[in-house]
Amino acid sequence: MRRILPAIIPFALSTLVLSPGLMAQTLRQSAPHVHGITHVTIALENQDLQVELEAPGINVVGFEHPPGDAQQQAQLKAALALLGKPQDWMQPADAAQCRLADAQVTPHGYDTTQTEGGHEHADVDARYDYRCAAPDALAHIDIHLAERFPATHQLVVDLVLPQREDRQVLEAGSYRVRLAP
Ligand SMILES: [Zn+2]
Repeated sequence: MRRILPAIIPFALSTLVLSPGLMAQTLRQSAPHVHGITHVTIALENQDLQVELEAPGINVVGFEHPPGDAQQQAQLKAALALLGKPQDWMQPADAAQCRLADAQVTPHGYDTTQTEGGHEHADVDARYDYRCAAPDALAHIDIHLAERFPATHQLVVDLVLPQREDRQVLEAGSYRVRLAP
C-alpha cells in the first residue's frame, strides 16, 4: 500500500531546532522521546487509513535496553505481539468498515548487535494500514493503548485528514480520537 505519511515529515522537522547530535534520531523519529507520551499519527486519504505509533520503549516494553534475561526477553516479545494485534486495542468506528491490511512493529535499541556506546533510549515504532469501505463514516477511532500499556500516560494524536489537520491529546482514561469536527 502506498505510503501517505511521509508528506507530513518536513512540516514536523521544520518545527524542531536541530543540533548535529540529535540529527540521526530526529530523522528517524519526528516526535520527541518523552517517557509516558506516545505519539500517534492518523492519516486518511480516500479509503486508505494509516496509523503510525512512536512509543518510547519504557511506555510499552518497560525498559529501554537489550533484554538482559529470560524475563525481559519475554516482556519484549509480549509487548511486540500485542502491538502487532491492533484489533485488541484499536477500533475504527464500525460504520466506516475498516479492515486491517497490514501491521508492522519495529523496535529500535533492543537488539544487542545495534547497541552503541552511550545509547540511552529505545523506542518502538508501529504502522497500521487499513482499508475503509466507507471512510466518510469514520467519525472516531478508539485507541485503548493506555489500558494495555499503563506506563502510557498521554497519547498525542496528530490527524492528517482530507479537510483539515488537527492535534488531540488523550490523557489516561480517555481513548476516543474524534475525526469528525
Ligand atoms: Zn527513554
